Amino acid sequence: MTDTRTLLEWSAKYHANTYGRAPICLVRGAGMRVWDSDGKEYLDFTAGLAVVALGHCHPRVTGAIQEAAGTLLHTSNLFHTAPQIHLAKLLVEHSFADRVFFCNSGAEANEAALKLARKYAKERFASDRYEVIATRDSFHGRTLATVTATGQEKYQHGFEPLMPGFKHVPYNDLRAMERAIDSRTAAILVEPIQGEGGVNVPDDDYLPGLRKLCDESGALLILDEVQTGMGRTGRLWAYEHAGVEPDIMTIAKALANGVPIGAMLAKDAVAGALTPGTHATTFGGTPFVTSVAIATLTTLLEEKLPERAARMGRRLMERLREMKTAHAIIKDVRGRGLLIGVELAKPVGPIVAGCRDAGLLVLSAGDQVLRLAPPLIVDDASCDRALATIDTVLRAPA
Ligand SMILES: *Cc1c(COP(=O)(O)O)cnc(C)c1O
Repeated sequence: MTDTRTLLEWSAKYHANTYGRAPICLVRGAGMRVWDSDGKEYLDFTAGLAVVALGHCHPRVTGAIQEAAGTLLHTSNLFHTAPQIHLAKLLVEHSFADRVFFCNSGAEANEAALKLARKYAKERFASDRYEVIATRDSFHGRTLATVTATGQEKYQHGFEPLMPGFKHVPYNDLRAMERAIDSRTAAILVEPIQGEGGVNVPDDDYLPGLRKLCDESGALLILDEVQTGMGRTGRLWAYEHAGVEPDIMTIAKALANGVPIGAMLAKDAVAGALTPGTHATTFGGTPFVTSVAIATLTTLLEEKLPERAARMGRRLMERLREMKTAHAIIKDVRGRGLLIGVELAKPVGPIVAGCRDAGLLVLSAGDQVLRLAPPLIVDDASCDRALATIDTVLRAPA
């Protein structure tokens, strides 16, 4: 076995230097916990960036992986496969959508949505109707189109020229959106709650307001639920809180509990703009990954994990708000379900590192927001332990 120090040296030497990784090497996971190469145990409140909703190595997921691996891994999309069809049907039955396109990541799902919106608007309205209005502090991915849609310069710097056809307005500002929409607007693209941008929860009238603006102008409403989807916010899809439906939705992170997958869901009238040959991917929706996604989604629904996320999230947020009185450094606690942001009055980096040293993995969202996104299976004892650790680390002199 290669020792940890050597592994980290090789990482520094052989990887493209794109990540500021924590100086640990994880080797194993089970449920809420992971272990590093020195045998140290961590309570995982990151869920692999809101991916491992059922926890690590859930038996039903592992079982689906083993079965698919011995049956049929890949066929390309030149042929039908039953798991892909069953998953599309399942997603349609449990959402606003009529049709599903499978791909491999969140960015790819958003690429598909952007391409669909352009094609639909050009065919339905006019050839110069292709603009997409996104919001500041958003995050939509790292490909050139999705990084252009992302309303944060730090992700765009150095990669110019960016894609033409994108505008940005402040999030949670209906007036600004109304002013930005014109006869060239093909779509509005927003996250129901901004994840990477700081766990920003909009006012209750924001999504209904966007829906109304879209209905009046003919623009499509695209919701990026890559992070908020699959029960994370306490409903299967975050748009359900708002009582309105999008025209297009993108999902990815938790869909197959860690096996890479993305999907774009759309209403029939919109999806029709994509005809054979207009969009494709080699790997999208393999029988392997779609089997795993079926196991993930059915388990999530059977075990009522969205409801659990709502309950545990309320509890966590209540306790975090109580901690505000003891910790002047906590400026705000916000979120929905198990997507929680704790805004601090100082940089969050040392807090994340302090928690890790104390055996708790947490996320940041921007420079000053501590983000909690545990697996949806999280129990009371794990919440208590995480809160106690955060309390201790916040108490420690910086
Ligand atoms: C993570 C994320 C993406 C990008 O997903 P990738 O799989 O990393 O391409 C897009 N949108 C949102 C809201 C995300 O949180």
